[in-house]
Amino acid sequence: MLHRNQGKAWDQHFLPRLSRKQIAEMDKEDVLIVQPIGAVEQHGEHLPTFTDTLVNESFLTYAFEALPDDAPIWLLPPLPYGKSTEHLGHSGTISLSATTLIGLLQDIARSLQLSGFRKLVFYNTHGGNVDVLNLVGREIRIETGLAVFHIQSPVVPDPALFPASGQRIDIHGGDAETSLVLAARPHWVDMKLAVDEFPQLPADSSIQLKSKTFAWIIDDLSDSGIVGYATVASKDYGTHLFERGGQALAKLLLECAAFDMKNLKLHPKSMEALQ
Ligand SMILES: [Zn+2]
Repeated sequence: MLHRNQGKAWDQHFLPRLSRKQIAEMDKEDVLIVQPIGAVEQHGEHLPTFTDTLVNESFLTYAFEALPDDAPIWLLPPLPYGKSTEHLGHSGTISLSATTLIGLLQDIARSLQLSGFRKLVFYNTHGGNVDVLNLVGREIRIETGLAVFHIQSPVVPDPALFPASGQRIDIHGGDAETSLVLAARPHWVDMKLAVDEFPQLPADSSIQLKSKTFAWIIDDLSDSGIVGYATVASKDYGTHLFERGGQALAKLLLECAAFDMKNLKLHPKSMEALQ
């Protein structure tokens, strides 16, 4: 596969490769700016702390290879840090506070507005950023008038390929992330240190990991820092996820670029026609 900072994403569609003049002369009406956001945080003993940002960059590399050359979609430099407070205290975790991340994203959006851009998408690969992005997206919409989108990591598990698909939990450092890093940077993974660990939540309880009723930090769930099945990961599965997810991400980006807020409201005449 392509290495970091190679390919169409980081060459043809990397906004800061252009000059002030080129950006000023760009027709910005339908241009979509992509702000990638990852994290630097512990992912167990077998994975690099750069996992989320590496995975983010790699999905974008795949997605842009799948986009038409003239797609009006431009990338900003990936923001390597996110809100990883749930992992603080574990070596190598570098976290922004929620308020810092909110302020940083607002500053980027204000700058884009002053350059004349109108559409912004946050492309995120770290679960801890989700709540912040939903909140700040609306704040930016209100303050700047930009159309703001939020795309979460396009990891779509494939039960046909996943060997332990019967009971699978994959929250952090498990089969998906381990497979993705094996595909992107195999020498950054030490599979000898991979373990499987997941918390025991009562099956009859509606309080589950991905529900909003349980504000966990990693030490509530795991001693290893992993929540999932890391040992079944494979490079082939990671490559498959990148190919599948890259296609899905390319399609989503094109849809965001073509999306027009002005067309959302039904005209009264159309309302009459519906009755
Ligand atoms: Zn992660």
